[in-house]
Amino acid sequence: MVLGAPSEFVPLHAPEFHGQEEALVVDCIRTGWVSSVGMYVDQFESDLSEACGTRYAIAVVNGTAALEVALRVSGVQPGDEVLMPSLTFVATANAAHHLGAVPHFVDVESDRLSVDPVALRLYLESLVEMRDGRNFNRQTGRPISALVVTHIFGHPANMDALDKVATEFGFALVEDAAEALGSHLHGRPCGSFGRVGALSFNGNKILTTGGGGAIVTDDQVLAREAKHLTTTAKTPHQWAFHHDAIGYNYRLPNINAALGVAQLAQLDERVAQKRTLAQAYIDAFAGHPDISVFSEPAGARSNYWLNALVLEPHAVAARDTLLETLNAAGLMARPVWEPMHRLEIYADAPRAALPVTEDLAARIVNIPSSAELAARLE
Ligand SMILES: *Cc1c(COP(=O)(O)O)cnc(C)c1O
Repeated sequence: MVLGAPSEFVPLHAPEFHGQEEALVVDCIRTGWVSSVGMYVDQFESDLSEACGTRYAIAVVNGTAALEVALRVSGVQPGDEVLMPSLTFVATANAAHHLGAVPHFVDVESDRLSVDPVALRLYLESLVEMRDGRNFNRQTGRPISALVVTHIFGHPANMDALDKVATEFGFALVEDAAEALGSHLHGRPCGSFGRVGALSFNGNKILTTGGGGAIVTDDQVLAREAKHLTTTAKTPHQWAFHHDAIGYNYRLPNINAALGVAQLAQLDERVAQKRTLAQAYIDAFAGHPDISVFSEPAGARSNYWLNALVLEPHAVAARDTLLETLNAAGLMARPVWEPMHRLEIYADAPRAALPVTEDLAARIVNIPSSAELAARLE
């Protein structure tokens, strides 16, 4: 009803190219600068750091790699536990696992969908014990070294309160801002709150480089280390190949960065369109007895990356019918990700009680959210 009768299948989130993308990609091909060095990487990094309000940005191959390196430069060691929400995309947990660390799942707030600082503090007060200035999980004996906060569907987490918990317990605060480029909390861009932040430019994100990601931070030492590690840890020299650490080949190719430069110029417009679309959904369901549309928390300006319908508890049994009806009508709809603690691969991971996650996982349905749909509103 909001979008009218679709003439073709409407995906959840389509990539959109309305700027200089073609010209800049052609420029890479004509000049031969398609691979791991080139001016678009530098320009993309500088434009990104401006958009995120951070001093540094390091472009990498995808958001998962960005998170892995963000955790590593934040001091996460193999065998450490990393606190994170269970209600997230699998990449958040995989990034910790790839470092040899152990994801430790905590619950979210129902009005933000991100880590609940009050529940987290209560949980930690009984769980952790301090030894040699570090916090250990009493049950597993492992150190807990970082807290990863997500901004689910682009809605900013409660960063002030989460920062306090992280500081109090001595955890590195790492922001998984993969869904939140262009979102702000109290006027400050998401990605700039943590010690280090990670972004994604996958094809379904608000901006895309085909595949891509970035690490953002204000910390010069961490930025240098991230850049060094993601570019094979080669020591600078005109011809000698010397590597002083086991690094990664995670650098974003110039041809993808060219897409990124062109896309980033459209960020403000895109956020505005997505907010218009979200408002239309919110208005359309206002007063509906069974369904509400998830809206941004107070003090936040969300990019509304993915719109989410939330079924009222009494209507939860109708979810699959709703999914079938929407998909049959040519409107892609899907439930939120299966929470991490319910995946077999993370079944043994330590976790808090997760009542809000369990409840919301059954009640959320994501609906078409591409910015260009704003032009089709009735
Ligand atoms: C997309 C996403 C990622 C990972 O990004 P990729 O570029 O797909 O590797 C990480 N965390 C969250 C919350 C995401 O939505």
